[in-house]
Amino acid sequence: MTPDPIQSEETEPHHDHDHDHQAIPSDPTLRVKALESLLVAKGLVDRAALDELIDTYEHKVGPRNGARVVARAWADADYKRRLLANADAAISELGYGGMQGEHMVVVENTPTIHNIVVCTLCSCYPWPLLGLPPVWYKSAPYRSRAVIDPRGVLREFGTDVGDDIEVRVWDSTAELRYLVLPERPAHTQTLTEAELAALVTRDSMVGVAKASGKAGTSPS
Ligand code: FE
Repeated sequence: MTPDPIQSEETEPHHDHDHDHQAIPSDPTLRVKALESLLVAKGLVDRAALDELIDTYEHKVGPRNGARVVARAWADADYKRRLLANADAAISELGYGGMQGEHMVVVENTPTIHNIVVCTLCSCYPWPLLGLPPVWYKSAPYRSRAVIDPRGVLREFGTDVGDDIEVRVWDSTAELRYLVLPERPAHTQTLTEAELAALVTRDSMVGVAKASGKAGTSPS
């Protein structure tokens, strides 16, 4: 399920009026509520199943899944080749997949290329690997500025990318979702795969940060 882009209420200037404001939910919220009520009334979905689904993506699936994929690619050159050639198949080898994770493409950071992912239209994001998208990923400023000024956005995230490094911006859609394979930090040859996974933050897999050289950091 991919939400339609509804940008008008965010981008329209606030109109002048003299009537009282009412706490009416946003248009998308109302539409979702209406759809849910209809589906439940028709017996097509079960509210408990919906709650379970939401709970799964809110609390059980997080960036750790993506971190395991990245760590495996760092540790196993054959796996990395498979991941870059056919991400869906390689990701499902580790048991991940499903809603909002179909048609994945993994893009690799190298010493000369830095990749950053955005969804300019809405907030397409690989849920099975990263959980639900952070608020900034869904924000209008990120969605527009990541394309217009990716280096500026990276600087705001504290990520310095030299002028000699090519920055590639990938626009996720309902059809294609991108995951960045960050560069493996230096001096990590002796680490186990699990220890490597601990270096992989959510932001590094969206491409707004690099993988941390410090063990024990975890994505928020
Ligand atoms: Fe989207």
